[in-house]
Amino acid sequence: MMKKLKILIAGGGIGGLAAAIALLKRGLDVEVYEQAGELREIGAGIQISPNGNRALQALGVFDALQKLSCNADAKEIRLWNTGRTWKLFDLGAEAVRKYGFPYMTVFRPELLRVLGDEVRRLKPDAIHLGARSIGMSQNADGVTLELADGRKILGDILIGADGAHTKIRPALFGADETLFSGMVAWRTLIPMDALPERFHRSVAVNWVGPGGHIVHYPVQSGKTMNFVGTLEGATWASAQWSSPATLKECTTAFASWHEDIHTMLEHAPSVTKWALCGRRLLTTWSKGRATLLGDACHTTLPFLAQGAVHTIEDAVVLARCLEKYADVPTALGRYDEVRRPRAHRMVKGAAENTSRFHNPALADPDDAEAFVSREWQSQAISDRYDWLFTYDAERVEI
Ligand SMILES: Cc1cc2nc3c(=O)[nH]c(=O)nc-3n(C[C@H](O)[C@H](O)[C@H](O)COP(=O)(O)OP(=O)(O)OC[C@H]3O[C@@H](n4cnc5c(N)ncnc54)[C@H](O)[C@@H]3O)c2cc1C
Repeated sequence: MMKKLKILIAGGGIGGLAAAIALLKRGLDVEVYEQAGELREIGAGIQISPNGNRALQALGVFDALQKLSCNADAKEIRLWNTGRTWKLFDLGAEAVRKYGFPYMTVFRPELLRVLGDEVRRLKPDAIHLGARSIGMSQNADGVTLELADGRKILGDILIGADGAHTKIRPALFGADETLFSGMVAWRTLIPMDALPERFHRSVAVNWVGPGGHIVHYPVQSGKTMNFVGTLEGATWASAQWSSPATLKECTTAFASWHEDIHTMLEHAPSVTKWALCGRRLLTTWSKGRATLLGDACHTTLPFLAQGAVHTIEDAVVLARCLEKYADVPTALGRYDEVRRPRAHRMVKGAAENTSRFHNPALADPDDAEAFVSREWQSQAISDRYDWLFTYDAERVEI
């Protein structure tokens, strides 16, 4: 009988857990090594577009997550100073009709809990906490994952799912820096019942303005408003990639923005600042018996709301390749060929949205009218989003 492959996953975030589920469901053996002492996500929201929900369905967790989520009815653009509103697209019944799945807004800890519960249902002892990876090595027969506590874990395959500040990527492909984009995101969660009635809608709103934009949408069955405001021209001195900030700093940064923004911020209990980062695009993600997935190989600006969604797609395609191809380097090479072009197109598309969302033409309401009408006309929206939302990780040719 053939030996069951033992697959080591460094990182138990969205990508590592999604990969564990996809692999365990295919009868492969998995061990996840997560640095944190518990499975945790930052308290913030995340948008899951129809392609992400299709991939979550392939993992068998879509129904559980949908019960905890808000279905966004629509996406709107608003102008930073006048508050002028353009309805962008219908995301409720229309998204389901067009793409077969809804567009959901989710509380991150709930997504992680659903994924973690499913991993533990499939293999109760698969997740090892407090296990920080510091490096890896491999030969033709296997891989070794090195942990900070001195343990060396042997396996057949290694997946680096350890995020944007990955330790597995440099071990595979040489050192390269996380690059600060010059943009900072201000994130907060606001109790919905503190906000006036006009905010109580299942709509994802994208405020656009010269040099910045703000996205807000409901999470936790509408009990909480997730707020992310991004501004250009920032510097970053901290050794950490996020840091607590004061509300005063945040309201000052958005001082010239519309009163609705300030109404939300007035009720924000606290705010955190995040350095938005990128990394250079790799020419391959796989080497021998090891590969990368998620932010470790396609760190992206969050301006298409696709980073995590692509991470989940990676997980599904990777597991399918390992099921189909008995030779490990062939399977990992095929995963790389299938996923990399799409993920890199997503990273570039997200970067292009910077000049769209932050365009100088948005400074003047008349110029803004023409700019928004051109950039968000329905054909342009279809061109930017249909290729993303129609993808089926479970069926794409591998
Ligand atoms: C402001 C903002 C908004 C966003 N909004 C969206 C959105 O709406 N939709 C969307 O799809 N994406 C969004 N994203 C992107 C999304 O958050 C990421 O793409 C996603 O979290 C990547 O998942 P990952 O599992 O690859 O990495 P991570 O989520 O970073 O998880 C990595 C895991 O590995 C662990 N780890 C790290 N280093 C080690 C180590 N050395 N050893 C062991 N474990 C380690 C970490 O603790 C963590 O658990 C957003 C990002 C930002 C910054």
